[in-house]
Amino acid sequence: MSGDILQRLSTLNLNIKHLNLLPHLPRLIPSSLPSPSPTVAASQVPTLFQEPYILSGYRPLKQDWRCYLLSLFQKHNESLNVWTHLLAGPVLLLRWWANVGALGYTLDASSLPLTLFLVSSLTYQFLSVTAHLLQSHSEHAHYFFFFMDYVGVAVYQYGCSLGHYFYASELGWRESYVGLMFLPGAAFFGWLSCAGCCFAKSRYRRPYPLQRKICQLIPTTLAYILDISPIVHRLFTISWTQEPSLHFHALQIASFLLSALFFSFPIPERFFPGLCDFVGHGHQIFHVFLSMCTVFQLEALFQDYARRRDTIVEVFGERQLWWACVSFPALFLCCTLTALLTMSHVSKQLQGKQGRDK
Ligand SMILES: [Zn+2]
Repeated sequence: MSGDILQRLSTLNLNIKHLNLLPHLPRLIPSSLPSPSPTVAASQVPTLFQEPYILSGYRPLKQDWRCYLLSLFQKHNESLNVWTHLLAGPVLLLRWWANVGALGYTLDASSLPLTLFLVSSLTYQFLSVTAHLLQSHSEHAHYFFFFMDYVGVAVYQYGCSLGHYFYASELGWRESYVGLMFLPGAAFFGWLSCAGCCFAKSRYRRPYPLQRKICQLIPTTLAYILDISPIVHRLFTISWTQEPSLHFHALQIASFLLSALFFSFPIPERFFPGLCDFVGHGHQIFHVFLSMCTVFQLEALFQDYARRRDTIVEVFGERQLWWACVSFPALFLCCTLTALLTMSHVSKQLQGKQGRDK
């Protein structure tokens, strides 16, 4: 018994000794991890990294990779680009669990498109966070992570298309030419928007010509027009009072259009150069509206799924559901290969440039 008490006292003594070490922990952590260098002005980074009207807050290149990871807690001009999508993921998951509790969910053929929509949303958010957090390491890293960001966008577009087609489309629209060609068309335009963005980024240098925006925006816009067509058809043909999900669909379209506006034009920083470097530039606002669009989509699709889940397999057939869902990883793979191929081309260009600079 006394031995047991002595044992406990010595353990307690040991724990108190450990507690005494706690105030020294902050000193121990910086010694084991590198700390990110202070941010610099636009003129101190290569033109590839300079954003229009953003004059300061750039992270210096060629730091240890861990500095860019730790820059999550540093104030720089990409901080809010990272945090807006980093926080959108948990919000999406919380809304997912709330809807699972309220409306019910079973993992089977009828819920596969809904699951893939969630996977695609989390994928684009994760790849966007990675791109904005790590791209400042080098020119090579900048291209690689932004090409992967474009893969995320294409995958998300296709995830939305699956959700819109299986849960939100009307029979009349599915029997139209657009409806019949919808899924292969959505996969093709998803891939094309990834390929167009990769090509434009690898081909054009700052100051960017109009052709770059055309290469990026035309395939992305065509993909969006097709992906949203079943929703637009339903918004104009079904009474909104009958189906509450239509309010969320209207909100997802409004949020997306606002996000597209802030993606396409450098506002408000164009009118206040240097004042929006850390907070309030257009890309951050684009991220916020895109995240809102995704949350509204989730709400709408969950309601549509809950209303139609008993008839989905009967209407579409289990085989079509599985085929559509097999095409999802296939598109992911095609887009990743396209990004890697473009990256190998860019790597050769960068190596040639380094050779000339020496
Ligand atoms: Zn972004």
